[in-house]
Amino acid sequence: MAASPPVLNDPSLWINAVRIGGHWRDSAASGERFGVHDPGNGQLLGTLPTCGAADTRDAIDAAQLAFKAWRKTTAEHRAQVLERWYDLMLEHVDDLARILSAEQGKPLPEAAGEIRYAASFVKWFAEQGKRVGGYSIPAPTADRRIFVAKEPVGVCALITPWNFPAAMITRKAAPAFAAGCTVVIKPSEFTPYTALALAELATRAGLPDGCMNIVAGDAPAIGGELTAHADVRKLSFTGSTRVGALLMRQCADTIKKVSLELGGNAPFIVFDDADLDLAVAGVIASKYRNAGQTCVCANRILVQDGIHDAFVARLAEAVNVFIIGHGAQDGVGIGPLINADACAKVERHLQDALDKGATLVARTPLPDGLDPQRYSAPVLLTGVTADMQVASEETFGPLAPIFRFTDEAEAIALANDTPFGLASYFYSDNLHRAWRVAEALESGMVGVNTGSVAVEMAPFGGIKLSGLGREGGEAGIEEYLEPKAIHFAGLKS
Ligand code: NAP
Repeated sequence: MAASPPVLNDPSLWINAVRIGGHWRDSAASGERFGVHDPGNGQLLGTLPTCGAADTRDAIDAAQLAFKAWRKTTAEHRAQVLERWYDLMLEHVDDLARILSAEQGKPLPEAAGEIRYAASFVKWFAEQGKRVGGYSIPAPTADRRIFVAKEPVGVCALITPWNFPAAMITRKAAPAFAAGCTVVIKPSEFTPYTALALAELATRAGLPDGCMNIVAGDAPAIGGELTAHADVRKLSFTGSTRVGALLMRQCADTIKKVSLELGGNAPFIVFDDADLDLAVAGVIASKYRNAGQTCVCANRILVQDGIHDAFVARLAEAVNVFIIGHGAQDGVGIGPLINADACAKVERHLQDALDKGATLVARTPLPDGLDPQRYSAPVLLTGVTADMQVASEETFGPLAPIFRFTDEAEAIALANDTPFGLASYFYSDNLHRAWRVAEALESGMVGVNTGSVAVEMAPFGGIKLSGLGREGGEAGIEEYLEPKAIHFAGLKS
């Protein structure tokens, strides 16, 4: 099948090669290539070298060499490079959105939104890098001074998923570069072209050769090398809890610093005293963004008795107006899911819930010609209970399950009844309840009267099986720094 990449204003942003040590490499040690396809129609977009352990070792060596010089640059210099990278991302937002939408499927305006969101981390960490300070501590004796310096951890392995192919990279790479680290990135096999275009723009921005290496292909082989190699001092992973736990175990022998952004099972609670318009808009934004394929998606919608029927009626109206189609088509709100397995999971969750007594309230019909193995129409279910699969697993698709509850204590117990703890949301106009519930929910992020908690200036991350560490905010750069305590003793007065 002949490849047909998206049409770009700057065709040099479509790169059929991986990036190792400042070179575009168009073959891997394996001699093999893998294909990347448009999830909306199955069309081959391009092929890339299938990297394995040997290519990954080369990338780590290049990153280690580059680290020696990059760590010695000034924070101001690194900020200037990052600012230029930010400007270039915005200058090329249309092309980057076309690349992202082609390989990931999200509608073009949403893809452009992700590029702007991804760029916001570059700007934020350009600024934050200049504020990394040390501190001094009162010493136990008069002849001693103690100063704590912050140093870059070294070469970092960044492994990212397909659902946010740009933002999950900049949320890690920008603080790494700002701190003085270098990186080897392994994007998902489904969405590597966005990462490669970002690397090209970083190079144009003046990022030195070897600072940003990108390998793609054989995930277990690449991950095996990244986690076993002693020169890699940190792993930052975003993806499923299963793979995150595996990589954490693999990092144990070389005692790496680890951050994990893993799966979620977010509750979205609507209390009787909620603003109905706000709550419906919030659930639409939280549940259906990226066709439901976000880690912070509302996965369980808990609605109190008194507002239940009105809320369901309003939500059904909103769900029925979604336009489903290819991401490049005008007006589309819901694009394809990433692959046939993702569509099958939505159907499995739907069937399981219906078999156990849930009611199908709305399902937008799929337009003629759309393949149900690629597209999944928005669904609204009521009468959902804790024994159904949707209660305990991430659906990762446009299925909104409504649970009914009677009082606040029941809602909190239901919300916390999960081993995950990434995001929670609730809607209430009662100030006292708002504080009580925000404090009682077990998650790294809580949205009160909002369905969105992802902004560059706030820490993003989870507790329990949802992960370790935080990205964004002030905390984001600390993940790439090590404190060093320097003791000056024997000082004469
Ligand atoms: P995934 O299957 O865990 O894959 C994530 C990344 O890990 C991909 O690059 C994948 O490569 C790679 N990978 C898979 N097996 C590996 C191995 N043995 N060694 C090294 N790397 C390996 O997750 P996904 O399906 O792409 O993403 C969806 C999940 O990510 C959901 O659970 C979602 O909640 C979570 N997520 C969390 C956050 C957060 O911030 N907490 C954000 C976004 C997504 P290939 O794709 O090439 O196989």
